Order: sequence, then structure tokens, then C-alpha cells
Amino acid sequence: MRYYVLDRGDQLSQDLSRSFHELAGAQGLKLDAESPDIVVSIGGDGTMLHAFHTFIDRASSIAFVGVHTGHLGFYADWKADEIPELVQLMSGQKDRRQLNPRIVHYPLLEVEVIKKSGTSSFICLNEFTLKSVDGGTIVAQVDINDQMFEMFRGDGICVSTPSGSTAYNKSLGGAMVHPSIEAMQISEIASINNRVFRTMGSALVLPKHHHCDIYSRKEQNLMLTIDHINTPVNDLISVRCQVAEQKISFVRYRPFPFWNRVRNAFLG
Ligand code: NAP
Ligand code: MN
Repeated sequence: MRYYVLDRGDQLSQDLSRSFHELAGAQGLKLDAESPDIVVSIGGDGTMLHAFHTFIDRASSIAFVGVHTGHLGFYADWKADEIPELVQLMSGQKDRRQLNPRIVHYPLLEVEVIKKSGTSSFICLNEFTLKSVDGGTIVAQVDINDQMFEMFRGDGICVSTPSGSTAYNKSLGGAMVHPSIEAMQISEIASINNRVFRTMGSALVLPKHHHCDIYSRKEQNLMLTIDHINTPVNDLISVRCQVAEQKISFVRYRPFPFWNRVRNAFLG
């Protein structure tokens, strides 16, 4: 079993990283930064986003597991004092193939950004958001499956994955979607609604094989965010969003149902 560890960089997470390496070495696990079977993220949910994007090119052959050093996370469900148990469980297996069926797969979001200066594709674990750089109103036409749906004016648009639905999407009044449902959710960020401007006002959940195109409808400096990564764009033509073919794999050595995480995180 080859592994890699990524931590948040704070003192506690770094210390835990070090003790993870010591325990893993003693158990015969091999540290491998190039092609690990398992990537361990130590920190918070944000650390998992970072880990996923670090290994995005090899993500299809990696299973992720998260240890939290603060509050319980959605992607980080192991406690710091459980690291010895986690290492023990990991060392019981030779490679990633032996982990089945203790791997769960969560849907991801594919985003194609079309600019005057070129086209690029991204994968999101939580969400994609489109906002203005300077805080001004954005104007964007939203098409669903190549049909004009609405003309959006407001602060921005968020398109989330099921596992990202408990993050930014939730703050926007979107629904929480179980990650076994292959879908994406479009939610509005402070839309302007009056006699002149009109948007749907409700979050929309779209299934796999549907797509949504967001067209920039004025000269505007936009901020495109893929999970925690911000990119300013001043020549956007459109963005296409759809459920990705690819999924993310998480190691589950013990059950921890999604709705229990939701209750723990938000109701205590
Ligand atoms: P951050 O500012 O630390 O993240 C904001 C909060 O979202 C943190 O408490 C983070 O947990 C939590 N979080 C991340 N992914 C989550 C998930 N899938 N379900 C529930 N909570 C989640 O920044 P960050 O750590 O780099 O995370 C980036 C994410 O922040 C974005 O993907 C976006 O979803 C979220 N965000 C939320 C808002 C908002 O709610 N108004 C605004 C901007 C961004 P940890 O503390 O464990 O990292
Ligand atoms: Mn964070």
C-alpha cells in the first residue's frame, strides 16, 4: 500500500502528519508522492479540496481519506487520536484494489470555461461560482440543455456537486443532496428581482447528461472559482457545467452515513 499525506500546515496538523509517517513506516506502508493508492488529508474540508486538486490528474486511481484537526468535517471524518487505528486498517491491505467494497464514489462537476483567449476544463469537488471581481452586478444568460432559461442579474451563480451542497450552496438556500444522486445544483447569489428583472429564485437540481451554459452578457471582470481556487477572467464568453464522467473515491473503513454527518455538522 502506497500512501501520501497532505496537511493544512498548522502546527497540530504538521505534528499529526509526522506521527502518521512514523506509524505508517513501522507498519510497512510506503510513502509515494507520485502514485499513491491512498491520499490522507489532515486538517479540514478545505484541506481535502487541496488534496483533491493536487492529485487531480491521478484521482481516478487514488482513494482519499480525511482526518480532521478541528471540528468534524464532511470530507474529514477521522479524529486525530484515531490515526493509529487508521494506519492499522490501511496496512491490512496491499493496494487500492483490495479496498473494495470499502470505497465510496461521489459525483464531481465538470466545467468548461470558454474565453476569447481560449478554452479550458476544470473539475470541482464542491462547486463552481461566477461572481464579479469588483462586487458589481453580473449579467449572465443561463441556458439549460441549449434552451434559454433566464437572464440573471445579481451577485453571482453557484453550481455545486452533491457533496458540495452542504458548503456554499447551503448558505445560498440550496438543498442538501445525497452524494449517491448524480446531479448538479444551480443556486443564485443575491439575484435582483423586480418588475424589470426576473430569475427563477429557486435552486435547480439537474441530472447527469443535462448541461447548463452560462453566457456573459456584458463587458465585465468576473471571478471564476473552482472550489477554493479563484481565477479572474475579463474575456469570458460562456461556461458549460455538467456532471463529470469521473468520480472521486473515498476510503470507508466504517460506515458514517451522510445524514449523520449533516446532523453532526449543523445540529450538533
Ligand atoms: P473556508 O473559508 O475555510 O470554507 C468555508 C467553510 O466551508 C469551512 O468551514 C469549511 O470547512 C467548509 N466546507 C468546505 N467544504 C465543505 C463541504 N463540502 N460541506 C460542508 N462544509 C464545507 O475555505 P476552504 O476551506 O478553502 O473551502 C472552500 C469552500 O468554502 C468552497 O468550496 C465553498 O463551498 C466554501 N465557501 C462558502 C461560503 C459561504 O458559505 N458563504 C463562501 C465562500 C466559500 P473547514 O473549516 O473544515 O475547511
Ligand atoms: Mn477551510
